[in-house]
Amino acid sequence: MAIETRNPATNELIKTFEPDTTEEVQRKIEAADKAFQSWRKVSFDKRAKHMNKQAEVLEKGAEKYGRIISLEMGKPLKDAIAEIKKCALVCRYYADSAAEFMKDEEINSAASRSLISYEPLGIILAVMPWNFPFWQAYRFLAPALMAGNVGVLKHASNVPQCALAIEEIVREAGFPDDVFQTLLIGSKEVNAVIEHPLVRAVTLTGSEGAGSKIAEKAGQQIKKTVLELGGSDPFIVLEDADIEEAAEFAVRARMINTGQSCIAAKRFIVVESVADTFLQKMKDKMASLRTGNPLEEECDYGPLARKDLAEELQKQVDQSIKKGATVVLDGGHVNKDSAYFKPMILRDVKPGMPAYDEEMFGPVAAIMVAKDEDEAIKIANDNRYGLAGAVWTRDKERGLRVARQVETGAMFVNAMVASSPEVPFGGIKKSGYGRELSYLGIREFVNQKSIWIG
Ligand code: NDP
Repeated sequence: MAIETRNPATNELIKTFEPDTTEEVQRKIEAADKAFQSWRKVSFDKRAKHMNKQAEVLEKGAEKYGRIISLEMGKPLKDAIAEIKKCALVCRYYADSAAEFMKDEEINSAASRSLISYEPLGIILAVMPWNFPFWQAYRFLAPALMAGNVGVLKHASNVPQCALAIEEIVREAGFPDDVFQTLLIGSKEVNAVIEHPLVRAVTLTGSEGAGSKIAEKAGQQIKKTVLELGGSDPFIVLEDADIEEAAEFAVRARMINTGQSCIAAKRFIVVESVADTFLQKMKDKMASLRTGNPLEEECDYGPLARKDLAEELQKQVDQSIKKGATVVLDGGHVNKDSAYFKPMILRDVKPGMPAYDEEMFGPVAAIMVAKDEDEAIKIANDNRYGLAGAVWTRDKERGLRVARQVETGAMFVNAMVASSPEVPFGGIKKSGYGRELSYLGIREFVNQKSIWIG
């Protein structure tokens, strides 16, 4: 079946691509292995030169690449441009620090000398989603290539132009042929790639379902995986928080990428004494956001990436309301032919409702009221996911205390959850395992080899 690129703002079909045949995939994997045999021997300085050049290519082409993102998945252009610039940052970060992260580590032992040598593994398969179609790919690509690995990317089927643009950027930055290639394949073809003996490991960012399937296949093949899956991040507002600031960030944290971010705040757990004030402020701010054509400056949020995602989200909302959630801000799926979804706030969200139990991948805020700090932590932890979370309080020590008790891979005190190159990123529970970014990220796909010299 052809891979389509469709503008979710207009539903217009922009372009179709013929998927790679089995033989083409085989050829690309063999070429990747050939590239690996020389790339692994290239010095860090030389790798860094290409990586820094890549940062320049990204920055120079930010508007052009940003447009591809907006047209394929509906993100406002200004956000898409910011995403491209962030990719340049991660390239520079690993260009500057990879040699240090990968340098031999001497260890004390009974040997005359013993050390850990960090060595690349070979071909890493990256299965990536559409929500940050450049950033998600680059936070894999930059550390993988700097470590001396090579990559093949199976991108989400709705962003083929982004996938091809990334391959082109790598080429333009002067990297040797085939160190990074896009496989234009559907998800059914992924198993065969995982099974290929030359493919050493897999990283996936996406849904829990895709994670479970990929890990199962990789497990059968005894291949390492890193899984960055969904999240239903808690946003805890304690009674001593700056309520104005908390409400401001609550809206930003929920509305990032029109709510389609694994680290968007999804469950707002507010202490009773400040709940009404917080909610009123949040409602006013959320209601003032503007939508429209993602290519225009005035657009604060665009459509969802696909119509079916809007339909799915509306079902979760309807079921939650049926089970007793009340509507504070009304919105929802605009109509059946559209991918637009207007922001909503639901209150009285309880266990058993999709808004409580599931990930809401779009602009719907679920409000839960807690009587105090302890109850807020309990609610925060009463969830299958454990990606990240935020807590708002004027008392930083208290914030740290709460942060330590919430079961997630990251906690932010008086700040919105966000990823940055130097901070490890990843979850626990059904949000997955392994870490991206920082020195931990580059060490996921390397042989941590012990060398003993007698
Ligand atoms: P998916 O998890 O289905 O897609 C993510 C990537 O995985 C895509 O490249 C997809 O390919 C691939 N994929 C899906 N199923 C399989 C499989 N069985 N084997 C191999 N590869 C697979 O996300 P959706 O687009 O369906 O989005 C739905 C939900 O996923 C969201 O509501 C959200 O919960 C979650 N999600 C989480 C993201 C995150 O950042 N953590 C990002 C995007 C989605 P293809 O497109 O060809 O199906």
